[in-house]
Amino acid sequence: MTEIFSGSFTQQEPIPDEAIEAAVSVLRHGRLHRYNVAPGELGETALLEQEFAAWMGVKYCLAVASGGYALATALRAVGVVPGDPVLTNAFTLAPVPGSIASVGAQPIFVGVTEGLTIDLDDLAAKADQAKVLMLSHMRGHLCDMDRLMQICDTAGITVIEDCAHTMGAAWNGVASGRQGAIGCYSCQTYKHVNSGEGGLLITDDEKLAAKAVMLSGSYMLYERHLAAPSPEVFERIKYHTPNVSGRMDNLRAAILRPQLCDLDAQVTRWNERYRVLEEGLRGTPGLTVVERPEAETYVGSSIQFLLLDWATERVNEVIRRCGARGVELKWFGGAEPTGFTSRYDSWRYVESKRMPASDRVLAGIIDMRVPLTFSLADCQLIARIIRAEVGAVYQS
Ligand SMILES: *Cc1c(COP(=O)(O)O)cnc(C)c1O
Repeated sequence: MTEIFSGSFTQQEPIPDEAIEAAVSVLRHGRLHRYNVAPGELGETALLEQEFAAWMGVKYCLAVASGGYALATALRAVGVVPGDPVLTNAFTLAPVPGSIASVGAQPIFVGVTEGLTIDLDDLAAKADQAKVLMLSHMRGHLCDMDRLMQICDTAGITVIEDCAHTMGAAWNGVASGRQGAIGCYSCQTYKHVNSGEGGLLITDDEKLAAKAVMLSGSYMLYERHLAAPSPEVFERIKYHTPNVSGRMDNLRAAILRPQLCDLDAQVTRWNERYRVLEEGLRGTPGLTVVERPEAETYVGSSIQFLLLDWATERVNEVIRRCGARGVELKWFGGAEPTGFTSRYDSWRYVESKRMPASDRVLAGIIDMRVPLTFSLADCQLIARIIRAEVGAVYQS
């Protein structure tokens, strides 16, 4: 009998009851705007920022409308202006180069390794081309952050971390987002906490924090924040920092606060699923498992493997056959951007040079979401299906 998987790769878990109740109470009082608070009331958004800052062990946190907005705000806060070059990953998703383009800056792509992290030799070679690196921890893979920071510190490059897939991850025990000048997170449905849309920005730098708060559209209400610098810091920047509205509202924050409390437990559940999938795929002929470095604490909310040097038709055949058995795989090597998946050369508003070594890796990356609605038995079944279909095409 041919086994078929019938679960949905896009179905996340429901919002926890406690979060639903918190959301309903915000709806009942009607004060959804973050600065609309009753006398003495601490708004949900300000509390979320305070709690996320404490969880990350960072001084300042700002909640915003989306992860992409957090990235663009970070670029503005560090002083990127139109025409500036900004280094970034060739292997990432569209909102990353999009955030750079949104401030009129020019992305310069840095290659990807078979470990699916930024190619640090390529970064070192391009380090004299820009003063800012937008580092995307794409699909949760962390590069050797110690070496990366050494390269960037030596070259005087400011690092902004895109932690859309690394909320809860760490390198050598340092939480992802704490090494760069600014760390940015997404609270969009497919990330590690779910408010539909939303973003968080963290930093230890008081000036960057104050600028980010002003940029997000705080008018002159910044004193209502609980994880922002003191008013004197705002005094220095407030007349010179434009309002580019992109605040988070109290409804989303109310949904997120209980999820933040559960996050450590959710990370454990993701990793249980990830390990089952990884074990099930290991040793499949023609398939390369992406080995995770010892120093990396990851969050297995998605899994990638490589079909390195496979012909296009054969990769398409694997995807088709797995799809027919209910296993939805995404291919980063596809010539056309589809769904959430795209390649650096799909972003035609950027002039990019070909990177043959990266093209070889990108052409082999197969990507799969791991929603927590999957059981461990589901993950075993999915791995059996992929193993069988990759094997069948490999041997044909
Ligand atoms: C989702 C995502 C973002 C941006 O998040 P949004 O909240 O959707 O704007 C940034 N980078 C990566 C790699 C992402 O996957």
